[in-house]
Amino acid sequence: MRLPVAAEAANRGGWLVVHNTRFESMSAIFAYSDGSADVQTIHEGAFRDRWHIGGQLGFSSRVGIPVTGAWLRIEGLENYDLLRVRFLPGEAAARQFELSALAIGAALALLAIAAAYNVGLAVFLRRQFFLWHGCWAASVLVWGIVWSQSGLVLFPAMAGTISARLATILACLAVMFAAFSSAAALRSALPETARRSVVGLGLLVAALGIGASLPGAALQVYGTLLAIATLLTLTAVAISIGTAWWRGHAEGRDMAISWAFPMIVLGTTQLVDLDTFLWGGGAQIAVLFASAFQTLCLSSLATARLSALRVERDTAVAAGNALAELADRDPLTGLLNRRGFVTRCEQAFGDQKTIPFGLLLIDVDHFKRVNDRFGHEAGDALLVSFGEKLRSLEQRYPCLAGRLGGEEFVLGVTGLSRHALGLFAEVTREELNTCDHSTRASLPAVTVSIGVAEGVADGPFRKLYGKADRALYAAKHAGRNTVVFASGSIEVPGAQISFFELGE
Ligand code: GH3
Ligand code: MG
Ligand code: MG
Repeated sequence: MRLPVAAEAANRGGWLVVHNTRFESMSAIFAYSDGSADVQTIHEGAFRDRWHIGGQLGFSSRVGIPVTGAWLRIEGLENYDLLRVRFLPGEAAARQFELSALAIGAALALLAIAAAYNVGLAVFLRRQFFLWHGCWAASVLVWGIVWSQSGLVLFPAMAGTISARLATILACLAVMFAAFSSAAALRSALPETARRSVVGLGLLVAALGIGASLPGAALQVYGTLLAIATLLTLTAVAISIGTAWWRGHAEGRDMAISWAFPMIVLGTTQLVDLDTFLWGGGAQIAVLFASAFQTLCLSSLATARLSALRVERDTAVAAGNALAELADRDPLTGLLNRRGFVTRCEQAFGDQKTIPFGLLLIDVDHFKRVNDRFGHEAGDALLVSFGEKLRSLEQRYPCLAGRLGGEEFVLGVTGLSRHALGLFAEVTREELNTCDHSTRASLPAVTVSIGVAEGVADGPFRKLYGKADRALYAAKHAGRNTVVFASGSIEVPGAQISFFELGE
């Protein structure tokens, strides 16, 4: 094949730039004005340093001697229609190789990030959609690496037909994964038959892609079939996305937004011949960027949607916790109620089986009289100031306070020896007795009686409570304003602590 040689390129170390890699061998022949000639030959699997990123092959003529003629001799060319040859001045060719490598590198980097991001999401969120989407991004990425010949850095023997066939398979796999990912994302929005059709068409495209890549395959026939199947798949995906969006599904809207741009690009590559743009790789470079945009857009929209869902769930959990906390509290004093107290005691002390645990049942003496003489509101005010006092004890001692009901309070304290527990009970009694109620109501000092029971932390609360209740009853009997221990002797000098032996 003799090529037209433009004077501008002929005098400036011109390059023959070829866009086609499906052949057995290719020779570029240059004839020079001094009568000499030079032949450069490459073979399938051995492109030497003639390949450039962007699916291009470059043959350089000698610098300084004008070229008078250029020929290209190709053996085993798979398809003459797909052959594209240009003869460019040296600097122009070098600039084109650089720019095309830069653009493809950028698109591949974006795709690699997108693929890793989606696979990460698939692993962490366990969503099938992200897995298919990650596979889609990965297959476009590998297709980009193979088509652009970047992969020849590592695998030079793949140059030529092997890479071209692999690129066809990968492009078809990408269409299949795109179909799978939309079927998975729109699972709840589409009828089963529609999803099966989308998946089936995706599988058909992949099967045709593999068929077209087998040695000796009738490329024209496969090419037509592939174009029809791809068009049908993309139409089915577009209809599915549109239907899901129309039905108000957020996934449908996200996919419509993300797919719109690549669909327009794909449509444009079919209608307009972009191969002459962007250094001869226009269509493919446009598809790479559109795919990178699509996958980053779709995964970030999906992440935003999932994190919004997560925020909603966290809010619901927080509201549930707040409600549970309210259910565990006594509204008048803000102390834990019986349920809350028992639960917290189990949580706080439950696994410390050997640590001694003291239960103090505190009952206001003659509280009925307070109500009768000063009114129910004054009685409430007294309960509130007792509640505050018990909370201040919580700050100072390893204990939990609660209101079991009426004018009966409780303290659970851990880690105190019997003697210390006696002192603690006495401190509690004194502090409550000297509690100043004047800020809320004009009340005289009111005394309390305390029944104390000891056990180990994980002992049954009911049993301990029964012992403390009987000790409290004994304290009332003993004349009130006193502390009574349920079992064992206790001596605290100067304190009003008595000992009450209970039958077990
Ligand atoms: P004792 O020394 O034997 O314990 O005598 P008491 O009067 O304290 O005991 P009693 O059980 O006879 O009376 C308790 C009173 O507490 C009766 C009830 O009306 C009152 N009471 C229960 N809950 C509340 C409350 O939330 N607010 C007010 N103000 N009074 C309450
Ligand atoms: Mg009472
Ligand atoms: Mg009582």
